[in-house]
Formats: sequence, structure tokens, C-alpha cells
Amino acid sequence: MTKPNLSQLAQDPSCMDDYDPNAMSVTQARQFIQKFLSPVTETETLPIRESLGRVLAKNIISPCNVPAHNNSAMDGFAFRFEDAEKPLKIIGTAFAGRPFTGKIGQGECVKIMTGGVIPTDADTVEMQERVTVTGETAALSRPTKLGQHIRLAGEDLKTNQTVLAQGHKMQPADLGLVASLGIGEVKVFRKLKVAFFSTGDELVSVGKRLEEGQIYDSNRYTLFGMLTKLHAEISDLGNVPDDPSLLEKTLLKASQNNDVVVTSGGVSVGEADYMKTLLAEHGQVLFWKINMKPGRPLAYGKVGSSHYFGLPGNPVSAMVTFYQFVQPALQALSGELCKPTPFFSVKCTAPIKKMTGRTEFQRGILSQNIGGEWTVAPLPNQSSGVLSSMSTANCFIVLGETVGNCDAEAMVNVQLLEGII
Ligand code: AMP
Ligand code: MG
Repeated sequence: MTKPNLSQLAQDPSCMDDYDPNAMSVTQARQFIQKFLSPVTETETLPIRESLGRVLAKNIISPCNVPAHNNSAMDGFAFRFEDAEKPLKIIGTAFAGRPFTGKIGQGECVKIMTGGVIPTDADTVEMQERVTVTGETAALSRPTKLGQHIRLAGEDLKTNQTVLAQGHKMQPADLGLVASLGIGEVKVFRKLKVAFFSTGDELVSVGKRLEEGQIYDSNRYTLFGMLTKLHAEISDLGNVPDDPSLLEKTLLKASQNNDVVVTSGGVSVGEADYMKTLLAEHGQVLFWKINMKPGRPLAYGKVGSSHYFGLPGNPVSAMVTFYQFVQPALQALSGELCKPTPFFSVKCTAPIKKMTGRTEFQRGILSQNIGGEWTVAPLPNQSSGVLSSMSTANCFIVLGETVGNCDAEAMVNVQLLEGII
């Protein structure tokens, strides 16, 4: 596929053969968006702890071996393997951090603690439970293996090895890994600046009284949560009524000094839609009907130099489209090398109604049955307005375009909403 020209496409969609705004698959739309994303280039240097969840802007190369020395994996005795047959004379002790400085001669051994440096000329360790000590003599109670219970220098990390690559998102283990190299600071890409607002005459902010027909604006709170988890620098611009001049003012404010603008509501087809006109006037924005449920309408484009995402207003649709399109886009923009989210195939406990030709992200509860088998129960109410389904669920049941109705006991793909880390 040739690289599409966004502004040309926004004005005349017929200029690209394989582009149909009314029938975009989830994968197509995601791949399409990826073509317009260039990662940030600015970086900052942070102390290790502050780098948690941030994206590395530079490879981390090991300046040393970890561990630095051969050391004992057990509390026991270190000796020369060739001497193991006869009782050994105990000539000293090696503690972790306090090595035995002498040499081990023929028929000699050193008492050694876990982490203690293996004394010069020793090549094997036996654990203390298998050694009989009589006065100053240690006798081994079973044959040993040359080199056993020794952790070798560089067995974890070797000098000059690439330990973590640019684009890696720092996780708890990585903080420890960097510390194990004696490195105190890391270079990461700067945070992405993301502004967002909700649109709709019916929306009221928390803290105000609801009049007839009004609802509280919940999307700004879920967006806050999702963006904060991605370590974005966020600007919440409130909820804006369906009023062209207020929407215009807020849109222009949002697009200044932000990498990304996210709005919810007002992108449905057929709506008395001011956003559409505004976006045509101030940017190059495409409106798509995605073959998915929930979350069919989606707008993507540029407003000024900011990327723009117009999410559907329904609370579940807003979240699902965020996870499917905005999150991978933000990851790419923040320089992260993205890995695919794993799927697991499990048995479902109830039949699922599903139309072919679109991807569905049903909310489900994954649990272990009495036989110990993991199964998934689809939640009974899959309406895109039922936000409690996102709270109750612990996974998405992802049903691809070719999948139709599923019987109870059918195998379905699930994606966990929360991982261990
Ligand atoms: P829209 O996409 O603007 O047509 O909105 C679709 C549905 O989502 C309507 O029922 C709206 O009331 C609801 N909705 C839109 N925005 C929000 C919001 N910020 N919080 C909660 N519900 C919303
Ligand atoms: Mg609306």
C-alpha cells in the first residue's frame, strides 16, 4: 500500500482504492493510524525510581559482569573437586561481602555462605546439610559434581551486553536490573502531552445537580485513568456542550502545545454534528465506521500539529476504542516498541450471540471451575452504555470478524484486562 496522504484523503476519500471509511476493520484502522505516527525525540534523564513505566531513549549497556565474581549458591563448603573423596581441613570462612583472602591448598576447604566469593583454587561447593563436621574437619556425605552450587561471574549479565533496548518500557524488574549494574540514572523519552474533553449538551460535571435528561460525564474520568496509566502529561479541558463556538474554542486550545487531542461524543454519523464541520475547518480528520462492537464510529486525523482521536460517546465504546486505537498510537508516539497483547483460548460457559463481519470485544469474567479449568463467562448485559460491565469484567472476549454465534463450551479468545505487572 502506498503511504496515504491524510489531507488529500480527508478531502477526497475516493483517491485511495483500498480505503473505505464505512467498512474499516480494527486491524486496518490501527495500521492506517500507525503510518502517521512519529515518536517524540526529546529525552530526559531520570533517577532509576522515576523511570518506572517510562520508555528508554537509549540502550542500556552493561559496564560490568553481574555477578562480578564466581560465588556460592549455598551455605556450605568450597574445595577442590579432586580432593572431595577424603575429609577436608577447614581453613577459614567466606561470608557474602567478606571474602576469604587465602588460597585453598590440597585437602583443604573453606566454610562459605550464600553469595560468598569462591576462594582462589576452589572449584566446587557442597551444601552444609551434606557435610559432617568433626572439629576442624569436614567430610562430604555423597559424591559431588565438579563446579556444583557455584554461580558464575557474568551469568546474569555480561560486560558490554545490551541489557535493555531503546523503546523498552521500564518495569519493576528493570529498575532492579539497572541498579544491579550500578547505574543510577536512565535516559527516557519525554512524556506525551495529551488534552481531552467530553462533548454533549446532556453532560454535567460531578458535583453539580442533574436536571431532567442530563447525565454525569463519566468519560473524562475513564480517560483520566487510562491516560494516567500510560504516564501521559494530561490536560482535562472539561465537558463542552454541543455549541459550535465553545467546541471550536476548546478544540483550538487543546491542539496548542499538545501531542494528542482526544474527545468523546459527537462523532456518530447522522448526528447534528458540529465537531465534523469544525474538524474539517481546522484539521484533516477522517470519520470511520469500524467493523467492531462496541465502538463503531471513530475519527482520526490531525488538528494543527496534534493527532486527533474522536471517540464515541458511549462509555464502553469510548474505552474499547481507546484501548484498540489510542493506546497503541500513544505507545508508538512515546517511542515504545510495542508487543502484541497475548490472547488465550478458553472455554466459554454460556452461548454467545455474535454477527460475522465485525470484531466484538465482549466483557467477560475469567475464573477457575471446580475442576481447576479456566473458563470465561460473558457478562449478561453487553450494552455499550453499561460501564459497570467494564468494572466487573476481568477480560475481553475477543471474537474476530469470521466468528459467528458461539455455543456454550465453545473455545473463545480472551485478553486479560490486568496483568501481573
Ligand atoms: P454520542 O456519541 O455523542 O452520540 O453519545 C452516545 C451516547 O453516549 C449518548 O447516550 C450520550 O449521552 C453518551 N455519552 C456521551 N458522552 C458521554 C460522557 N462523557 N459520559 C457518559 N456518557 C456519555
Ligand atoms: Mg453527543
